[in-house]
Amino acid sequence: MPLLGCIADDFTGATDLASTLVRQGMRTVQVIGVPNGPLPEADAIVIALKSRTIPAREAIAQSLAACEALLAAGAKQFLFKYCSTFDSTDEGNIGPVAEALIKRLDAGFAVACPAFPTNGRTIFQGHLFVGSALLSESGMENHPLTPMRDANLIRVLGRQSEGSVGLIPFAVVEQGAAAIRREVTKLREAGRRFAIADAITDAHLMALGEACAGHALITGGSGIAMGLPENFRRAGLLPSREDAGALPEVGGFAAVLAGSCSRATLGQIGLARDQVPTLELDALATPDAAALARQAREWMAGKLEAGRPVVIAASAPTERVQALQAKLGRDAAGALVEDAMAEIAADLVAAGVRRLVVAGGETSGSVVQRLGVQSLRIGAEIDPGVPWTHARPDSAPEGMLLALKSGNFGARDFFLKAFR
Ligand code: ADP
Repeated sequence: MPLLGCIADDFTGATDLASTLVRQGMRTVQVIGVPNGPLPEADAIVIALKSRTIPAREAIAQSLAACEALLAAGAKQFLFKYCSTFDSTDEGNIGPVAEALIKRLDAGFAVACPAFPTNGRTIFQGHLFVGSALLSESGMENHPLTPMRDANLIRVLGRQSEGSVGLIPFAVVEQGAAAIRREVTKLREAGRRFAIADAITDAHLMALGEACAGHALITGGSGIAMGLPENFRRAGLLPSREDAGALPEVGGFAAVLAGSCSRATLGQIGLARDQVPTLELDALATPDAAALARQAREWMAGKLEAGRPVVIAASAPTERVQALQAKLGRDAAGALVEDAMAEIAADLVAAGVRRLVVAGGETSGSVVQRLGVQSLRIGAEIDPGVPWTHARPDSAPEGMLLALKSGNFGARDFFLKAFR
């Protein structure tokens, strides 16, 4: 029976949250999309939706369906996870989804705290900062899908919600959990539905987590989850675990599949190229997913070898990406490469690869979908934000390891380090 049931509005955010929970001693499984069967065994379940920018009505429906599955599994507490930059519009989706969950769980009230001090996201007097800049002057005001033009989260959440929004100010948070609990009681009595919580350091997040022990629903970034596992240990519900990130041993071949064109990924390919067999596919010269997959299939035969990964990359520098986009259109160019990468992933698994690193958020999405992976048990991190995970796709029912890396993550030696 899971103690904590989480609903995340995007995939990499879900992984980030799951990693945080593993670090704090909870065995955690990430489920991809609304589950269509019984949930796996874990201390915490994180359901990864793709609901950040879909219409609010659909985001609510998916989040409630995820909530039902977690309730049916017996989850004791719920966390709605969104981005640490509060990515949303005045129409939603954070407020509407949170209000629907408050209603379903009969919670009456929820804390809202996207702070993530390690990544420079802090909240003071209800205002969200990214580094030293207000959210609205951080570059996020120009985000293509969710431009954030107001750094005052009390106002932002207020515009998205029917209920009213209060503040748990710095001066209270600084005093610790007991003071926060008293403030929450006052806010509830005043009829507030939400309170933005100030937090500048991890110590503030830990105090907030402790104060939220009895809350049916908490909302925020991955940081607000840091203090929750200790509540369960204190209540005698969670044993002390040294091995929350332990994954089953897996043999088989190792491979890297890169579809991210970020600077970090290009650097990682550059370093790996000198040390392990590397195939760089040229999508501009061969704008045909099936032909690219065929090239990779022919190349991998004879290259796969125990103890050494191979790298297959479609990644290209900006000029070449733009040239392909000019030729095919932006969406078709992305889809072409994603289709090829998904096909190559299936071929790699068929050829005996059981440890696979995928670079690129969208690329990871298409690979996971093609392999039919429905859930990932979260292991230890290779680099911050990128854990090894264990999955049992139909094509590898005995299990395989997957590391799904968002483009910009990981040090330069990430691809080789992953297999050490
Ligand atoms: P990131 O995490 O770095 O954003 P994604 O996988 O999310 O990486 O996005 C990269 C996108 O670029 C994918 O849609 C991928 O298919 C596409 N892509 C990869 N290589 C090329 C290329 N050579 N030309 C055009 N598009 C490409």
